[in-house]
Amino acid sequence: FTSKLPQVGTTIFTVMSALAAEHGAVNLGQGFPDFECDPLLVEAANHAMKAGHNQYPPMPGVLALREAVAKKIEAIHGRNYSANAEITITAGATQAILTAILAVVHPGDEVIVLDPCYDSYAPNITLAGGTVVRVPLTPGTFRPDFGLISAAITSRTRAMIINSPHNPSATVWSANEMLALQDLLAPTNILLISDEVYEHMVFDQAEHQSAARFSGLAARAFIVSSFGKTFHVTGWKVGTVAAPAPLMSEFRKVHQFNVFTVNTPMQYGLAEYLRNPDPYLQLPAFYQAKRDLFRQGLEGSRLKLLPSEGTYFQCIDISAVSNLRESDFCQWLTQEIGVAAIPLSAFYGGEFDQGVVRFCFAKKNETLLAAIERLRKL
Ligand code: PMP
Ligand code: GLN
Repeated sequence: FTSKLPQVGTTIFTVMSALAAEHGAVNLGQGFPDFECDPLLVEAANHAMKAGHNQYPPMPGVLALREAVAKKIEAIHGRNYSANAEITITAGATQAILTAILAVVHPGDEVIVLDPCYDSYAPNITLAGGTVVRVPLTPGTFRPDFGLISAAITSRTRAMIINSPHNPSATVWSANEMLALQDLLAPTNILLISDEVYEHMVFDQAEHQSAARFSGLAARAFIVSSFGKTFHVTGWKVGTVAAPAPLMSEFRKVHQFNVFTVNTPMQYGLAEYLRNPDPYLQLPAFYQAKRDLFRQGLEGSRLKLLPSEGTYFQCIDISAVSNLRESDFCQWLTQEIGVAAIPLSAFYGGEFDQGVVRFCFAKKNETLLAAIERLRKL
């Protein structure tokens, strides 16, 4: 048989985590916390199991959770989504993005992604029979280039995927950038998939500019988020999608035959936990402190730190310490120095090596300090 994804191997995150484990390296590669989530969240899910919430929930998700999500979006971004018709609970953001793409992309349609981007987007588009159109973010700053995006739009462009706060570059789109996108898309029918999984990790008093804040974007957008990131439970694989009812109706047609629905007790647990906004309101300060600890620890070293405006990633320019290609450097760093990182080249379509690697600082302070001690030897 012919592979549907001939270019695809095992994801870089899996590869680097395995290499880190093999060599006993400090794993700052794959993005996940090495600390526990809030025990209250675990208790809430346990309580739901004990209370007998162990059968299928409704196809779009537990209503109490959809209501809590709609309430949160309205409180933060001022847009009202109907819990009944416009919010669906998914098996993480990964499934949400694939399902949105399968729901709207027809064979031969073009979908614009901005390089570098999360590794699932392009294979998802390919699986839907679409054509991936890669538009580079501005080299060096990773800001969107609206001239280039505009030039990439054709009559076949069905959708565009954006991601702010951005994995891997840790940039955060400004309100002006969102407005520029809104203006650019205004005369088109292009749909938007807005990957906002790091929505609650924005630093230095800046605000997350959700597509929900911009009427012209919200009207065409699937807005995707993930409780895995926000509540330190990447293993729970529970995410959300918000979209206007006609789009959500198409989404659910695919969702019901994709996973049908998502595990029940975690949804009840999350609904209960969301009653208190403090955990997500305190997340920026929590991660900003980790970002600053990591950055300060590397000050004065030969590693050049790029800005980290949001997410739990810090990109580092390695050109002053090594001529190796990014992926060779990451392998060497894991094996010889004992710290795992992710090469930025893994997020690009073609061969592109700019000497930048990504570190995840969603780690205990002691983990970060151990990594700093090793990295300072470079
Ligand atoms: N999008 C981005 C940008 C991500 O970084 C991730 C997680 N690595 C995902 C989507 C997937 O999220 P989830 O784990 O909820 O499927
Ligand atoms: N999103 C995580 C990252 O960027 C990894 C998720 C995964 O392993 N697929 O590191």
